[in-house]
Amino acid sequence: MVSDKRDKFDSERAICKLGKDKTLKNHLNEFLELVKDPRYYCSKCGRIAHKKKNLCEPEKIPDSDNLSLD
Ligand SMILES: [Zn+2]
Repeated sequence: MVSDKRDKFDSERAICKLGKDKTLKNHLNEFLELVKDPRYYCSKCGRIAHKKKNLCEPEKIPDSDNLSLD
């Protein structure tokens, strides 16, 4: 069996790219830590994350007070 270096979870990486291999499935707990209390969204992929470095096109999520969701 060949060990796959891409399978190593890198918390500095954009989560947008983790779904392309099995990294996300194999490191679900680490992934959930990155998306907990999200403050940024990716304007390209629609993903969310707590840190902007984990998104490829990060945009700040506006304060929920200013959003009208209904
Ligand atoms: Zn993205």
